[in-house]
Amino acid sequence: MDRVSKWSLGADTTCILCKNAVESRNHLFFDCDYSGQLWKSLTMGILLTDHSKNWSVITSQISDSSRGGKSGFCIRYSFQAAVYAIWRERNRVKHGEKPMPIAMLQKLVDKGVRNKLSLMKMVKGGAMVDGLEYWFSTRV
Ligand SMILES: [Zn+2]
Repeated sequence: MDRVSKWSLGADTTCILCKNAVESRNHLFFDCDYSGQLWKSLTMGILLTDHSKNWSVITSQISDSSRGGKSGFCIRYSFQAAVYAIWRERNRVKHGEKPMPIAMLQKLVDKGVRNKLSLMKMVKGGAMVDGLEYWFSTRV
């Protein structure tokens, strides 16, 4: 919305998820109180003291090729799942739908990650055979 307001004067730039700040990319992903809670619940147990809600820190973490294996996969998959979920929720509310309680969205996205890891478990000898166990061990 910070970009829309540059060509559409008078457009409401307020973040529709927290109603507490101007909606920019960095705010939506994941400075926002609402979206930040989703990102935290997904990745806090993996990133621990490296956990951040800052876009440039996060994008550099997911681009770090030295972070591979289960933690690398879980962080990258969580990132794409969280960005998708927040963008979809943002658009739903923008179009008049009732906002989803954060606990419900957290459950939904966590289930999506678990389903993905469950499917990857079936790749015999693959790097993610114990990805689901890893995911459970990182839930805080
Ligand atoms: Zn917000």
